[in-house]
Amino acid sequence: MKFTFPKWYDLHAHFRQGDNLPYYIQSHMNMACAGILAMPNTKPPITRVMGSNTDQYWTIESYLNDLKAAGADAFDQIIVPLYLTKETTPEMIIEGTQSGLLKSCKYYPPHGTTNSEFGAPIQTYMDNGVFAAMSDTGVILNIHGEEHGLSGEAYFGKNGNAEDLFYKERVPKIHEMFPNLKIACEHITTKTAADFVTQANNNVAATITPQHLLYTVADLLQGLKYHLYCLPLVKFDEDRQALLKAAVSGNKKFFAGTDSAPHTHKQTPCGCAAGCFTGDIAPQLYAEAFDLNEMNKDVFEKFLCLNGPEFYGFEKSNQSFSLEKMPSQTSPLKTKTDTIIPLTVGMERPTLQWTLNQND
Ligand SMILES: [Zn+2]
Repeated sequence: MKFTFPKWYDLHAHFRQGDNLPYYIQSHMNMACAGILAMPNTKPPITRVMGSNTDQYWTIESYLNDLKAAGADAFDQIIVPLYLTKETTPEMIIEGTQSGLLKSCKYYPPHGTTNSEFGAPIQTYMDNGVFAAMSDTGVILNIHGEEHGLSGEAYFGKNGNAEDLFYKERVPKIHEMFPNLKIACEHITTKTAADFVTQANNNVAATITPQHLLYTVADLLQGLKYHLYCLPLVKFDEDRQALLKAAVSGNKKFFAGTDSAPHTHKQTPCGCAAGCFTGDIAPQLYAEAFDLNEMNKDVFEKFLCLNGPEFYGFEKSNQSFSLEKMPSQTSPLKTKTDTIIPLTVGMERPTLQWTLNQND
C-alpha cells in the first residue's frame, strides 16, 4: 500500500537558535516539508518585527535570515510569528504587516510552557488594541490555549484542566469580540477545544500534533515515558477520540502542526522540559494515527497537506512525497554536540509502520 501526496506544511514547530539549526531544519526537510511555522519562544524571544537583535529580544527579520542561512531557504514558505508581550503595540502590528514580515502573532500563557515567561494575560491584548489591529490587518493569532496560574485539580483534574477552561471561558470571548480575527488554536488536546473550533466560524482553525492523536496520559504515566511529556499534556481517550474524529472529518479547519521540539536536555534538575521531537517522522506518525488506507487517503491529504496552507493563504506544494505501509526504523538525531531523542525512540518504539520517500 503506497500513497503519494503533495509536500506538506508543518504549521507549528520549534527550531531554536544556534549551531544545531541546520540539523533541525534538515530533519524537517527529510520528512518532505514544503514549509514551516517556526515558533518564537527562543532565548531571547522574538518580540520585535524589524531591525537588529538585542540581549532582550530578537526580531522576525533576523531570525528569518538565520533560518534561511541554516537551510530553510529551500522551503516554499516560512512564517515566524511575533511573540506577544505586554510591550506589543497596535502600531507594531500595522508596521509589521506593511513590512511584509509579520503574518502571525503567538500568544503564550505567562509561564505556561518552555520559554513562555514573557507572555501577558490574554485579556491584555483584547483591551490594548493589539487584537483589533491584528483583526484589521489580517494577522493570524496563534494561541497556546491554556489558562495560566492554575494548580492541582484545576490544572489537570477529573472534571477539567487548563485547556478545557481556556476553551470554555477565554477563546469564545475573543472570537465573539473579534469575529474577523483569524485564530489558529495550536496543538489542541481536548474534546472541548475540538468542539469549539468545529462550532466557530471559518476564521477559526486548529493544529493537532501526532502525539495527541496517538497517545493518552496513560501512555505517559505507565513507565513514566517522559519523552511524551509535552504541553498541553496528552489527555484522556475521550479527548484523543474527539481529536481523531476532527482530523479525519475532512473539515478544513483542522490541520497538521507537530509542535516538534528538539530538546538537547529533556530531563532537568527540577523536572522535565516540555515538548516531543518528531522531526523526520511526523507524516509516518500521522499516517499511523489515521490508520491511513484507500478509504481515508483524501481526508488524510487534506489534514496533512492542504488545509493548513489554505488557512495561511499559501498554494499547495507542487512537489510530492510518498508514504508506503512498510516498517522503517528511526534513531536519535545526532548533531555535532548533542543527541536528540525522537518521540518513538523515547517510547521504546523505534519501528514505524510507514516509510516515507521523497519523490523529487
Ligand atoms: Zn509549541
